[in-house]
Amino acid sequence: AAHELRTPISVIQSHCEYCLDELKLTDSVREEIEIIYKKTTYIGQLISQLLTISRTDKHSFKPQKEEVDLTLLIESVIEELQQKAAYKNISLLFEYIPQNESYIIQGDTMLLMRMIYNLIENAINYGINGGCVWVNLIKNQENTDIIIKDNGIGIEKEHLDKIWNRFYRVDKARSRSVGGTGLGLAITKHMIKALNGNIKVESELGVGSKFIIELPFNTEL
Ligand code: ADP
Repeated sequence: AAHELRTPISVIQSHCEYCLDELKLTDSVREEIEIIYKKTTYIGQLISQLLTISRTDKHSFKPQKEEVDLTLLIESVIEELQQKAAYKNISLLFEYIPQNESYIIQGDTMLLMRMIYNLIENAINYGINGGCVWVNLIKNQENTDIIIKDNGIGIEKEHLDKIWNRFYRVDKARSRSVGGTGLGLAITKHMIKALNGNIKVESELGVGSKFIIELPFNTEL
């Protein structure tokens, strides 16, 4: 199904790219093709997110248990998102206290990476120009906490419980302009459950948001 859904999307995209790059177009035709291209990209993103949900939804789904060094994993996600942050002049800062014990846990690299990616990407998308995203790694007695904090637009109290719901977006127009589908946090919550962890949010409108992922040392089910 994944292949059947993705192939026509790529075909439409490559035809659009060909038209935009190679053909002489009037401004109005160019605009129309750009809309088709954008919408197709959105559908592609939606399909891949729905496939992720359905894959991790199955009761048979079992996360991998691999040794994951969280410091390296977070550094690689930050590197991947550095350019996106730079477009908005947002600084990505990663801090952790080096200690004798390392930040190695038993978990599923792919799930952890996607969750952290989603949260840092949101912090950039809903961040303010010239703002900051702080990523902290803290080890306590039972968990390793990953904290992703921004000084962006923040979320009103009345929306805080609902942001985990599928397709829920606080401000639909804004969310669409950043390319959101409203599925990112639903997937993140889903994944954290699969790892036996927990996720919490604290936020204040106009001040910023803080997402806290609590991971048990051994995240195998
Ligand atoms: P989207 O694809 O719309 O970003 P998400 O599921 O990732 O969907 O997030 C749901 C909604 O929660 C977003 O539309 C946005 O309104 C809000 N949100 C998520 N992260 C943040 C954040 N760091 N700051 C402010 N609002 C946020």
